[in-house]
Amino acid sequence: MASTDDTTHRTTDDETEGSPDPGSALKTARRQLRRAADHLDIDPNVLERLKHPKKVHEVTVPVERDDGTVEVFTGYRAQHDSVRGPYKGGLRYHPAVSRDESVGLAMWMTWKCAVMDLPFGGAKGGVAVNPKELSSDEKQRLTRRFTQEIRSVIGPKQDIPAPDMGTDPQTMAWLMDAYSMQEGETIPGVVTGKPPVVGGSKGREKAPGRSVAIATKLACGYYDRDLSETTVAVQGYGSVGANAARLLDRWGATIVSISDVNGAMYDPAGIDTASVPSHDEEPEAVTTYADDVISNEELLTLDVDVLVPAALGNVITRANVDSVAADLIIEGANGPTTFAADSALEERDIAVIPDILANAGGVTVSYFEWLQDINRRAWSLERVNQELEAEMNSAWDAIQAEYDRRDVTWRDAAYIVALSRIAEGHEARGLWP
Ligand code: NAD
Repeated sequence: MASTDDTTHRTTDDETEGSPDPGSALKTARRQLRRAADHLDIDPNVLERLKHPKKVHEVTVPVERDDGTVEVFTGYRAQHDSVRGPYKGGLRYHPAVSRDESVGLAMWMTWKCAVMDLPFGGAKGGVAVNPKELSSDEKQRLTRRFTQEIRSVIGPKQDIPAPDMGTDPQTMAWLMDAYSMQEGETIPGVVTGKPPVVGGSKGREKAPGRSVAIATKLACGYYDRDLSETTVAVQGYGSVGANAARLLDRWGATIVSISDVNGAMYDPAGIDTASVPSHDEEPEAVTTYADDVISNEELLTLDVDVLVPAALGNVITRANVDSVAADLIIEGANGPTTFAADSALEERDIAVIPDILANAGGVTVSYFEWLQDINRRAWSLERVNQELEAEMNSAWDAIQAEYDRRDVTWRDAAYIVALSRIAEGHEARGLWP
C-alpha cells in the first residue's frame, strides 16, 4: 500500500474483508453525516447540500503500452465540498476505483480535514487500473495523461491530490512535473506527498503512524493509563503500524504483538520493535524474526490494553467482535471496524478512537507541505513533528469536549466536531446566487 491522505471504506452491512462494495463508501459517508446531524441544530438546506458532491469529473485516459498498443482507462476526480478551502485528497490506482467510491471517499476527506481544522475540503479520485500490471514507464505515461485530463480542475488553490493506494511519491513527482510543464512554471503546491527533493515535506511518510501514536497517548491519558503500564497489539507493520509501534515502544508502552500478512509475532514480555524490519525495510518478514507466531485473527482478540488495527479495512467485524478483549481500539487503518462491530463495541463500552483523527497525521503534514511549497521554505523535521503534535492536541481537545458533553462515541464526537465546523462555514458564506 502506498502512503495516503485518506480512507478506504467501512462497510455498512457487508462484513467481508477488503471493502468489495464500491457503493459502501458513499453509503457510509452519508450515514455518518446523518448520525452527526442528529446531534446538531443544522440548517436542513446545508445538510442537503453536504449529501452531494460539488462536482465529479470523469475522464478517459488513453495510454500507450510498452508493446505499442493503446489501452483506454477511466479516471475520476470527485470534489465534495470546498467551503473551508481547496479540495484535498488522494489519487488511487486500483481496479475498483469508481464514481461512487470516489464520491464517498471525497466526503470522508471533507470530515477528516474539518476534524483537524485544516483549511481544506474533501476530494478523491484515481484511475480504474491494476498498477501491478503496469511497467514503470506505462505508469508514468498514465500519470502524465491523467494529469493533463484533470489539469483544469486541480491546482494549489483549487484541488491538491496526494498519494493513495497504488500511487506513491514518484507518482506525485510525475504529476507535479506534467502540471508544471503545461503551466510554464514549477508549481510544487499542486500535489503533496512528493519526494522532499522536489518540495515534499520531511516527516510526511511517517506522519500517519506518528499521529496514531499521539492519539494512543492522548486516549491513554484520558483514561488515566500510564503508557509504561500499557500493553499494545498492532496489526500491520507497514508505514502506519511500524511507525506507531516504534514510537509507542520508545514512549514506554509494551508492544506484545505485531503482524504482517503472514501472521503475528507474540511476546508478552515486550517486543524490541526497532529490531524487527518494517514492510518498507524488509517486506513481510515479521514472522521470520519471531519465536512465537500467532495468527492475525488471534492478535485481534489478545487481552491487551490497546489494540491498533493498522493493516486493512473491515477486520473487526460482527463475526469476531465478541472476542475482542482490548479496552481501547485506536484505528490506524482506514475503516478497520464495520458498523455492526462498532455498535457491539459501543454496547461493551470499548472505546474506539476513529481513523479520521488517529491517522490524520498524513493529511496534516500534507497541509504543512502545501504551506512549505507556497512559501518556498522547507521546515525542519523537529518543526514538522512539533506542529503535528500541536494539531493533534487541539483536535483531541475539541473532540473530547463533545465526548464529555454528550452521550456519544468517540467516533460520533469526531464527526460532530467536523460537521459543525463545515456547517458554520456554509452558514457564514451563504448560498450564491
Ligand atoms: P503498508 O503497505 O505500508 O503496510 C501494510 C501492512 O499490513 C504490511 O505489514 C502488510 O504485510 C500488512 N498486511 C497486509 N495484508 C494483511 C492482512 N491480511 N493481515 C494482516 N496484515 C496485513 O500500508 P500502510 O501505508 O501502513 O497502510 C495501512 C493502512 O493505513 C491502510 O488501511 C491505509 O489505507 C491506512 N492509511 C495509510 C496512510 C499512509 O499515509 N500510509 C494514511 C492514512 C491511512
